[in-house]
Amino acid sequence: MTEHSNRCYRLRRRPQGAVIQEADLDLVEEVMPTVDPGQALIRTLLLSVDPTNRPWMADIRGYIEPVALGAVMRGIGIGEVVESRRDDMHAGDLVYGFTGWQDYAVADDAVNELPFAVLPSPLPAPLSAFLGALGHTGVTAYLGVEDIGKPEPGETMVVSGAAGAVGSVAGQLGKARGARVVGIAGSDEKCRHVVEDLGFDACINHRDPDWTQQLDAATPDGIDVDYENVGGPVMDHILGRLNFGARIVLCGMISTYADYGSPRGWDGQFELAQVLMQRATIRGFIVLDHPDRFPEAVGHIAGLMGEGRLTYRETIVDGLENARDALNQLFRGENTGKMVVKVADPVNAPAAPRATTAVAPT
Ligand code: NDP
Repeated sequence: MTEHSNRCYRLRRRPQGAVIQEADLDLVEEVMPTVDPGQALIRTLLLSVDPTNRPWMADIRGYIEPVALGAVMRGIGIGEVVESRRDDMHAGDLVYGFTGWQDYAVADDAVNELPFAVLPSPLPAPLSAFLGALGHTGVTAYLGVEDIGKPEPGETMVVSGAAGAVGSVAGQLGKARGARVVGIAGSDEKCRHVVEDLGFDACINHRDPDWTQQLDAATPDGIDVDYENVGGPVMDHILGRLNFGARIVLCGMISTYADYGSPRGWDGQFELAQVLMQRATIRGFIVLDHPDRFPEAVGHIAGLMGEGRLTYRETIVDGLENARDALNQLFRGENTGKMVVKVADPVNAPAAPRATTAVAPT
């Protein structure tokens, strides 16, 4: 890479099957963009890798336009302003927004899908937290728990994807409200982390052959709130244990995302009839619809962190050249907590974290 080049991933083909290939998402080197009046040049420091990146690549009826073939891959990131021709941004500012999967982005409210937001200075937490627990995944957990699930003391909330970015925060918010919280995750090590570090009451490994019996034993009074991140057979078993008046927070269905563009591997939610039988409520939501709620949600989560009642982990992968594999890792369950790709160190702001899986300071 030369001083004036921009590495970016372009979508060449809509992925089919479980693994995103180089022929789908191609890393190329191009000329660095220049900025006009009203624009700022942003150098990407950290890139958020999210399950939704996969449906964004599919030609489906989604909540946002599919990424066009040939376009730079859409992605949320944090960057540093390196040159500004706008009044509201200055060189050295740290900003959050749709950087895309590339080294350099142009911040222009007239064309960006989400306006870039300037982060506070000095930063109250490590930079990467603003993509996770204090960013869109933390806010997602907050909206799902506080607006839809509303677990109360004496109730049981089940969280799938419990060791992941959203699930880990959602479960801790449920505990803070006084509910019994049971997680579901993909390994014994993740389940240990969920119980011992995050404070869930129990966690079931969905890869154990008898996981359904284990979940039944861990939810002897049934399930009042399902914080659903996974869908598929995991969700189906949860639906079969819903209590009267249960709430289903339909946050995500990662188990189905790799089926977009391929023959379907799953036949549907047989136990959905329990929503009817138990007069339950099921509600979907998209965090990007609620930018106005970020300050409230981040304030609540930061408050719990300050009291030592909420913590988080993150998996940091080093190098933009490894972003495609980082996304594949999410679908193999190789992350714990928020998956972030470190693209560059800031010039003026504090250094981005090193590649690691780290427990954040509380
Ligand atoms: P995670 O950090 O939870 O990473 C994804 C995890 O999903 C993996 O680590 C793996 O965990 C699990 N997983 C992957 N494939 C499968 C499968 N086939 N069956 C069961 N589990 C699987 O990601 P996020 O926290 O960022 O996202 C979690 C969910 O929340 C996703 O569905 C995402 O789309 C959704 N979401 C929704 C938002 C909204 O606005 N509604 C906003 C952000 C996220 P394990 O090893 O435990 O199986």
